[in-house]
Amino acid sequence: MNILVTGGAGYIGSHVLKALLKEGHQVVTFDNLQKGHREAVIGGKFVEGDLSDQKHIENVMAENKIEGVIHLAADSLVGESMENPAKYYRNNFANGINLLEAMVKNDVKNIVFSSTAAVYGEPDQIPIKEKNQTVPTNTYGESKLFFEKALKRYDDIHGINFVSLRYFNAAGADPEGEIGEAHDPETHLIPIVLQTALGIRDKIYIFGDDYPTRDGSCIRDYIHVNDLAAAHVLAVEALGAGKESSIYNLGNGEGYSVKEVIDTVKEVTDRDFEVEVAKRRAGDPAVLIASSDKIQQELNWQPEYPELEKIISTAWQWHKSGGF
Ligand code: UDP
Repeated sequence: MNILVTGGAGYIGSHVLKALLKEGHQVVTFDNLQKGHREAVIGGKFVEGDLSDQKHIENVMAENKIEGVIHLAADSLVGESMENPAKYYRNNFANGINLLEAMVKNDVKNIVFSSTAAVYGEPDQIPIKEKNQTVPTNTYGESKLFFEKALKRYDDIHGINFVSLRYFNAAGADPEGEIGEAHDPETHLIPIVLQTALGIRDKIYIFGDDYPTRDGSCIRDYIHVNDLAAAHVLAVEALGAGKESSIYNLGNGEGYSVKEVIDTVKEVTDRDFEVEVAKRRAGDPAVLIASSDKIQQELNWQPEYPELEKIISTAWQWHKSGGF
């Protein structure tokens, strides 16, 4: 298929791009490079552009005979979204509407959307299923949920089929070592612990050890970025073959605590470093674990790297090599 990947220069986008190229798809990456890395775009065609410019997207779609869109371009810092909500409503919601309008103009009928577990907010049930309540506790999650609602409307009104993938904690790196996670600022647990193992940080802070969990620290569902990428490929190919719209969770179904992540990093890296318990971080639910049964059943998706040790070791290879 001829596929447009927005945000293809980012962490998850670049892994999606690589997976699409391996399957023989023709890919155009569209990215404004505000957060993404040009070096992460390892093949296909690259267009520097911003989703605020609808005409530009329309032209790119027409010139490249685009048949499907994978939409990952977004701002994704929860804390920032609570200080500057306008940025999130504009970039993640309003600019997404430009993309949908450009699809309507070009008669592009398929889109895979990069959504998030943050649409659920404080879960009413673990493991979380797609039909659980969606009450986001921050603007980031809300902006993604609004766009999911827009997708449903564009399906009803314009016949655009969508798959929305609600990611849990994306982690790890390309096992071939070509691409990996490089955020600035870095806020995610695994890369922060790896930076501590490398001596880039003095110590790692555990944000709260008084949660009602097995060791008191928060539990999250870490999913390898290649397993996420594989799900995008399955989803866009299924849409191309006529699949109707759906929403899927994407996680391992396994939860690991912050302390377990730190201990596993120490084992994998064979390095010791200081760990300090700090205050809880505002808005952190104690446990977030996905049920990914629906995508396993409907798209035959299976995680290839479910073990925490493997997830961390691929990320460690990347961090040790110096990244981009
Ligand atoms: N966390 C931590 N120390 C850090 C960064 C994160 O204890 O320096 C915790 C955080 O409170 C959460 C878990 O690690 O419980 C995963 O956080 P991350 O930001 O990676 O992902 P989130 O679950 O917030 O999307």
